[in-house]
Amino acid sequence: MSDSCCTLPNADAGTAGADRCPSCSRKGKPVGAETINALARPELQPAGGFPAGYVCTNPDDPILYFFPGDTPALSQDDVTVRVGFKEAEAPHLVCYCFEHTREDIQHEYRQHGESLIEASIREQVSQGTCSCEVKNPTGRCCLGEVRAAYRDLVELVTAEELQS
Ligand SMILES: [Zn+2]
Repeated sequence: MSDSCCTLPNADAGTAGADRCPSCSRKGKPVGAETINALARPELQPAGGFPAGYVCTNPDDPILYFFPGDTPALSQDDVTVRVGFKEAEAPHLVCYCFEHTREDIQHEYRQHGESLIEASIREQVSQGTCSCEVKNPTGRCCLGEVRAAYRDLVELVTAEELQS
């Protein structure tokens, strides 16, 4: 079974270095216009909508989307969802379709010693009910992020147990 429910968006490759965030100069990931237009505040939408661009996943940088041309970059305050990977404080959304947070995964693991969230997301994905393209700020399937959150957590809990 595929690990991803969504096709990867393809931003226009444009000029060299266009994929570097203008604020922190980290490399961004391509994001389709569909995602950006679904999440950007309606009053900011230019005529004809936003083009495809890039997402900056640096948690310390407020810039969320930037574009190869002269379209101004969007910050995390310019979108209508709480962007989990940009937030310092809980809750951190990791699955935007079914609204699972990093904290839910922690809670489940501490209570049951496992996370059923990933399995439940897979189940929903196989039924085609996810819509990461228009809900997840990266435009990508959340399963990778869910698994990463779970791995971090298992490491954290194991380290705690070793200390006590
Ligand atoms: Zn940045």
